[in-house]
Amino acid sequence: MTAELTREHIFSLLENVKDPEVPVISVRELGVLREVEVMDDKVLVTITPTYTGCPAMDMMRADILAELHKAGIANVEVKQTLSPAWTTDWISDAGKRKLKEYGIAPPEKTADIRALKGELPVVECPQCGSKDTVMVSAFGSTACKALWKCNSCLEPFDQFKCL
Ligand SMILES: [Zn+2]
Repeated sequence: MTAELTREHIFSLLENVKDPEVPVISVRELGVLREVEVMDDKVLVTITPTYTGCPAMDMMRADILAELHKAGIANVEVKQTLSPAWTTDWISDAGKRKLKEYGIAPPEKTADIRALKGELPVVECPQCGSKDTVMVSAFGSTACKALWKCNSCLEPFDQFKCL
């Protein structure tokens, strides 16, 4: 490994790797990218899936490899770890803002969800900001999202699934 290869440099390269389902948010902002270690013979990237079996993870993994290979880093290992489990708290504030701009309601904070004790969270419509919304289906456009409908502007929207 070359001397100038730093953890920070790799993190900044990986800003280019986006969630394949939400191309405005990077794997780092999503909190999926957990750790980067520059070792003697390789770069080890640790990722945590948003939930077990998320089909987007294979794509993210391939994109991470492709991005680092493109930068001339040949020996890359992407390790998946399930512990500690990903929670929506890992999405950065910038990431949550981008989700909303993309028309996806950002997930509630995990702590808030726990406080609800099984009740559905209040989700703000990303189109008009109304809190008069209802969950239509636990599965939206992809398995990682739930489908909601706004009772004010009547628009359907996806919410990044939190549970
Ligand atoms: Zn609305």
